[in-house]
Formats: sequence, structure tokens, C-alpha cells
Amino acid sequence: MTWRSLLHPICSALACLCCFSACHYSLASPSPLKEAATVQQLRETYGEVDSSFEREYLLSITSRLTASGILGKLKPVVMLINNAEPVAGSFASGTIVVSRGLLLDLKSEGELAFVLAHEMAHIALGHRAEGSTEKVSVAELAADRLGLALIARSNYDPRVAVSALLHASPAETFWLSSESYPSVQERTQQLQRMIAASGWMPPGTINSRDFDRLQTRLKLLS
Ligand SMILES: [Zn+2]
Repeated sequence: MTWRSLLHPICSALACLCCFSACHYSLASPSPLKEAATVQQLRETYGEVDSSFEREYLLSITSRLTASGILGKLKPVVMLINNAEPVAGSFASGTIVVSRGLLLDLKSEGELAFVLAHEMAHIALGHRAEGSTEKVSVAELAADRLGLALIARSNYDPRVAVSALLHASPAETFWLSSESYPSVQERTQQLQRMIAASGWMPPGTINSRDFDRLQTRLKLLS
């Protein structure tokens, strides 16, 4: 199984979720005013880290993720708040909020890419739309699946998704009750199953077993 084949069921799931929202909540739409007020409140409460280095670095990661084309025309804007607590969240319009504390908890750019990919997946799947009644437990696992496909297609080592969850999983509980979240164990197990099913191997892996088998088979032909 390849990442490409994994994407088909994911895209189907995406279509189903969007369809479900559209069918049952046709009047539901993001509330730009409410969202803008919340973003402004975060900015005033914690302050924003908005120097050019941080802004351009975060943009380089989201650009690499969006270049995969998986999420259509989504163009996220990342706001880095100066909060020591680990925080990650997103809004329907495409704003993603991460905190200084979260970025200090992470161990690599790949882990940061997965956190951003997970939030981008929430937005693309409609979880942040006002009126969305997607269960948190279902939404989290769906955002993990799409986030994993996104980083893998963007040439990040997919195993960073697992380590990112181990280092950053409390980050979204800033916004929502931790009780409604699937356990880190359930989430990491799902990701590990997907990575194994994809047949992904680290760059540089030498498949000596199949090469030896090839030579053995060819020798029998002579
Ligand atoms: Zn999430």
C-alpha cells in the first residue's frame, strides 16, 4: 500500500464529513467576527511573536505542506503566541495558533510540521466550522490520519507524527476538555498502523532480502 492509495479513503472520508455537515447544518458557517475577536483576544492576552524569522520559517513549513495539493487551496496563516503553555488550535478561516511553549516542547521541524498538518486537516475536514457537531474523539483521529498523509506526501519522515503526539498531545486541551480526547495510545497506534500499511521505508533503506532473491531466481535461469 502506498501513500497515494491511502489518500483515496482519506479523501472519501473528507467528502463524507463535509457532506454530512452540509446536509444537516446547511446554515452553519464560520463566524468571522467571533473568530477575529478570539484571535485578537489571544494576541492581547499573550502577545504575538511576529519577527520576520519566526514568520518566514513557519510560512516555509506550511508552504511545503500546501504544495502537496492534498488540501486544495487552503492557505493557513500561523499565529505564534508568547505563551509558556503548550497550545495548538485552528479556526475555520485558516488561522492556526501555536504557542512558544509548544514549540519548545517539540523536538524537530518534522514534529512541528505534523502539528501544523493536524490543524490544517481539522480546517479542511470542516471541524472548525461553526455548528460542526463532529465528536472530538472522531475528529481527532481523522485529523491525525489526514495530517499523517500530508506530512508523508511532503517528504517528512512520517514517524515524526508519532513522536509529535508524545511531545505535544496536551496542546489542544487548552481549547477543549481533555476528557473528550482519544488517548495518546489510541492515536499513536492508529498512526503506527497506517505507517506500516503504507510500506514506507526510511530513505537509504537497502532491501537486501529481495535483491538476494532476485539473484537466486536469475541464477536458476542459466
Ligand atoms: Zn486536533
